[in-house]
Order: sequence, then C-alpha cells, then structure tokens
Amino acid sequence: MIKEALYWELKGERIHCFLCPNHCHIKEGHIGACGVREVQRDVESSHLKLVTINYGEITSFAIDPIEKKPLYMFKPGNVILSIGSFGCNFKCSFCQNYSISQYKADSTYISPNELIDILKKTDSEIKNNIGIAFTYNEPSIWFEYVYDCAQMIKDKLPDKKIVLVSNGYITKEPLIELLPFIDAMNIDLKGDDIFYKQLCNGGLGHVLETVKLAHNFGVHIEITTLLINGENTDNETVQLLGDFLHNLDKKIPLHISRYFPNYKLDNPPTTLDEMKNAYNYLIKKLDNVFVGNVSEYEREYITKVD
Ligand code: SF4
Repeated sequence: MIKEALYWELKGERIHCFLCPNHCHIKEGHIGACGVREVQRDVESSHLKLVTINYGEITSFAIDPIEKKPLYMFKPGNVILSIGSFGCNFKCSFCQNYSISQYKADSTYISPNELIDILKKTDSEIKNNIGIAFTYNEPSIWFEYVYDCAQMIKDKLPDKKIVLVSNGYITKEPLIELLPFIDAMNIDLKGDDIFYKQLCNGGLGHVLETVKLAHNFGVHIEITTLLINGENTDNETVQLLGDFLHNLDKKIPLHISRYFPNYKLDNPPTTLDEMKNAYNYLIKKLDNVFVGNVSEYEREYITKVD
C-alpha cells in the first residue's frame, strides 16, 4: 500500500528524506536508496510529496523461536510472530536475505488492525508467542508501518513484546520516537567504518549511536556480527567492536556468526581459526559471547579458550 511518508522536506525540485543517514535527495518519479520511498506529485495540490510503497506489504511471515532472531537472553524458550517486507538502506554484498532486501519481492497487504487480529488468533493457538518481531528485511525503512503497529499493539495488547532486528542505520529523531514501543532489538555491528562504506554503502558511526541510544533507553539489546573471512576478522576490527561493547556494557550479548559465500560476495568461508581468534579476544571483554552458524563440534573448538 502507498502511504505518505514521514521525515522529509521539500528542497527545490527534490525531496530530502531524513529517515536514515543516507539523506537521499530524490527527484519526482524517483525512489530513494532503500527502494521503498518514492517522490510523487499530489493529485489535488500538485505539490511533491514522499510516499512509502511498502506500508503493510508483507513478504515473509513465520512463527520463529526467539533464539532465531537471534535473541538468547530475552524471554528464552518462547516463540515470536515474525514479519518482514522488502527494501533496505544498505547494499551488503553478502546479504543473506537479498531476494527481499534488494528487490521488490511479491507481497500481501496486511493492515495494522489485521495484524492485531492475527496476533490474537495466534495466541489462541500457540501459548508461548510473546509478540511480534519486525525482521527479515530492514524495519527502520518500514518506519510508518512499524510505528503504527507498535503503537496499536501496545495499546490493545500491552503484554505483547515488540522486537526489531535491525542494521541500526536510522537517524536520531525517528529512533527516539519509536523506542518507547520497543522491548528488544538485535542490531548488526558489521565491521569498521571502511567495511561499512565498501561492503554495505553505509557507515559505522550512526550504528554505534543507535546501539547506545537503544541501550540507554532501556531496550534489551543483543548484537550480531557476521565474521567474514578477510574482511572483518582482523584483530583491529574485532577489538574495535569488542571494546565499544565493553565500554558501553559488558553484559550486552554478542553473537558472532560464521560467514559462508552468499549473494555477490565469494570470499571463502571464514575459517574456524579466525572465529577462534575473535572469540578469544571477545570473551575476555564481554560476559556473553555466542557462536552461530557452526556445528556443535566446531563450536567446541572455537570456544576452547587458549
Ligand atoms: S530511508 Fe530510504 S529514501 Fe530515506 S534517506 Fe534512507 S535510503 Fe534514502
């Protein structure tokens, strides 16, 4: 569904969108870097306006264990209704969900009211569903829908938890508006600033700000870092990420996940020794480091501290 967007201003013949740090300046008929915010001319006023084209458009829908988000220290043992749309403000060459993040995938419209009904129905069938997760593609560029749903859920079903799985690339103003409705977030911390610029078309600084803001606001946060062979497994990057979290709060759980080739990136899989080297540093800095995308045998090898 197309709906007028929030967080934009008219700048001459273009519209400046400031929902995320990309700060796109978009011409009439064009779309922002996220692929979901388009400049159109209002039929009645003939003024330019920014619209969102993925409001309520659902591409992915599942009931997942909360641990799959991954959130290991927030309501463990429960499940959560998980939905996603299409679009992303990053262009990660290694994206695991590129079919919905980088393309306008087929979708079905579900209004916020219908989503509440689905949540209620799910409750009658599944006892340990704790709420809803906005996940699979980037929820911050789905802002209008996520905000409307979150507000409505907290009003009508106050016991339900709201979770975001995000790249953290959002400007301060919308983030502060959304945080009061959010219970938990998993935020990616992908690498140093060069990594963000070269592999994602993004930047590290704003992501660190999001992590700090969400944590200081009292939202439960966990962090995920996909360790990619030869890209972010060097000691400097691992130390940068580990030290940032250590200084913020060493109890914040960190998930390090093993990379395998995907989408446009064909580096060989991250070696077990690269994983082990990172784990060895991080576990000395942080209380909770989890290793993902490995077998039990591999996990044992990686987590055996030297
Ligand atoms: S939300 Fe989309 S249109 Fe707006 S600044 Fe970010 S990438 Fe550009």
